[in-house]
Amino acid sequence: MERLKERIKTEGRVLGNEILKVDSFLNHQMDPLLFEEIAEEFYREYKDCGVNKILTIEASGIGVACMTGLKFKAPVLFAKKSRSRVSDKESYSAEVESFTHGCRNTVFVSKRYLGPEDRVLVIDDFLANGEALKGLFEICRLADAEVVGAGIVIEKAFQHGGDKLREEGHRICSLARIASMSESEGVKFV
Ligand code: 5GP
Repeated sequence: MERLKERIKTEGRVLGNEILKVDSFLNHQMDPLLFEEIAEEFYREYKDCGVNKILTIEASGIGVACMTGLKFKAPVLFAKKSRSRVSDKESYSAEVESFTHGCRNTVFVSKRYLGPEDRVLVIDDFLANGEALKGLFEICRLADAEVVGAGIVIEKAFQHGGDKLREEGHRICSLARIASMSESEGVKFV
């Protein structure tokens, strides 16, 4: 997606060679027109897969996931990082190592909203080591829901999470794949 790559080039800030900040259009301020194009790309990729549910993780996947849900006319479910008042019996949970915060979180999805009847498209803003996707796939496995694939806005291919998941047979569509990045030379795409 050329427009997305252009925005990453011009507005992205690389921190310490591993973190990309795209707060002007994706992770803090959000650009709904760009999100609409992103959602169209995911729709083009997965429109024949019978998707009837979109799943993401809070918080920064929610905006793109919501736009994608609009295209598929499907509900959008996000895994929560706090259990609120839902008990263990009423939710599926998975452990996720947070790349950006360097800690482990348990994420929860209510059993009410995910089950064997669901064909799930998993959406997230970034793919780095693949921990967030693995946690969401695990939640779908626990729910006996079928994962048709994942839609990722930015994959940091040099961290290889995507390669590992593809080798395991998962279908992953990433709209911008970064081969390398550094504070001095900026971002290079695959
Ligand atoms: P993974 O679980 O694949 O290691 O990392 C993906 C998750 O970490 C995403 O949900 C995303 O929120 C966050 N993340 C990973 N790398 C970056 C990054 O470079 N920039 C930002 N803004 N978030 C990232």
